[in-house]
Amino acid sequence: MPDRFVKFLGTAGARFVVARQLRSSAGIWIRMAGQTVIYDPGPGTIVRCWAAKPQCDATKVNAIVLSHHHLDHAGDATVMVEAMTDGGTKRVGLLLAPRAAYEDDSPLCHYVQRFPARVERLREGSAHELGDLRITCVAAMQHGVETCGTVYSDGEKRVGFAPDTYYIEGIGERYVGCDILVVNCVLFSDHGPGVPHLHPASAGRIIAEARPKRAILTHFGMNMLRNEPWKIAEELTQEIGIEVKAAGDGMMVDLDEG
Ligand SMILES: [Zn+2]
Repeated sequence: MPDRFVKFLGTAGARFVVARQLRSSAGIWIRMAGQTVIYDPGPGTIVRCWAAKPQCDATKVNAIVLSHHHLDHAGDATVMVEAMTDGGTKRVGLLLAPRAAYEDDSPLCHYVQRFPARVERLREGSAHELGDLRITCVAAMQHGVETCGTVYSDGEKRVGFAPDTYYIEGIGERYVGCDILVVNCVLFSDHGPGVPHLHPASAGRIIAEARPKRAILTHFGMNMLRNEPWKIAEELTQEIGIEVKAAGDGMMVDLDEG
């Protein structure tokens, strides 16, 4: 395994793809600065961790991060906290999520919220240290519930995550300086601010504003899958002049490559 990498245990977005498991809805496994983070552990994350080759040891996670508490991002949050803390017997690890994920009706059960050593709130501008890994909330998104965009930095590499949101003017600029930018592209076309998700054109705007070395699209809804995300990624690459890839289930990105 590389020293630092991002592994997509799942790439499903929104309810129809999740319900049918057309793509796995497991979260993203991040390994940087000797720390392991599971990001947005949707339904099936615990299963995909152990089914992965090599296995992702869910009991060795150092932090669990939720961009927001919708089911496709947090369905396995409770089980992952139990795994990280050995069923609450070890007071270890960091749980990081927006306030709403702790307090509102959320898949993150209240009883596990006292298990981790640290429970912190993501809010715009907040910064959280995990050993030599720094997690910063660079943006509050527009998504109906409190949703946070984050950047992970080990001092050398920066990886950004632009989660579910409707496009906000200039929001991509918050991610300037990232080596990799992961963008949730749920929709194939704009459905207006009442369906606050990105689609290829608005995802492309964010990538163009952020100018990362590489961008990765993920979290695909039904119409994105029907329209072949890898083709859309190729078109965006041509249009923007930045390498854009579509994530596949199990895809690993070595942060020291490319
Ligand atoms: Zn959502």
